[in-house]
Amino acid sequence: MRILLVEDEPTLRAQLAQALQAAGYAVDEVDNGLDALHLGQTEPFDAVVLDLGLPQLDGLSVLRRWREEGHAMPVLILTARDHWHDKVAGIDAGADDYLTKPFHGEELLARLRALIRRASGLASPLLRCGPLSLDTRSGRVTVGDEPVNLTSHEYKVLAYLMHRPGAVVSRSELTEHIYAQDHDRDSNTIEVFVARLRRKLPAELIETVRGLGYRLVPTP
Ligand code: CA
Repeated sequence: MRILLVEDEPTLRAQLAQALQAAGYAVDEVDNGLDALHLGQTEPFDAVVLDLGLPQLDGLSVLRRWREEGHAMPVLILTARDHWHDKVAGIDAGADDYLTKPFHGEELLARLRALIRRASGLASPLLRCGPLSLDTRSGRVTVGDEPVNLTSHEYKVLAYLMHRPGAVVSRSELTEHIYAQDHDRDSNTIEVFVARLRRKLPAELIETVRGLGYRLVPTP
């Protein structure tokens, strides 16, 4: 799952980026509205954290442009405490949720989990596929009752597949959703991560659909 983080205040941006990365997200950070607009138009994000007060182009204008152009990713806006009308304007402009500064990082993470879950049509934060469970709150992965230790990249691949139940996901789609833009991307590494996941999980859980990609299949 990949997040666009738009915040011009450097200390807050660094704190949020660190919290998001620690929670298993790939994070693209920008500090102004024009870069935010462009990235949201050109890269596939699973959610956006959008500050409203931004240099070059304000957050509300960015959001309106995205929505006019049909970019439907979940967007959570950050508003200043004494600007209650920003929440109304933001939701009317197409925001899916908001947080008022200052807020706790845990609340941001919980709201993002819910937005991403809803965008995938999933009801529960505990994702399941046959004997496999992934708890998006703790990052804990289990098969039956046994915990499975995954590296952060293995976790990112598995979490993305589990948010797309039944769908065939291509290697390039996985690449775009597990790496931020400035990361050195190589879709061949996806094969390596999938091979490692198959060694750690029941191997038949991740099906290869020839020429198309991968699909999680619930096995008994
Ligand atoms: Ca700001």
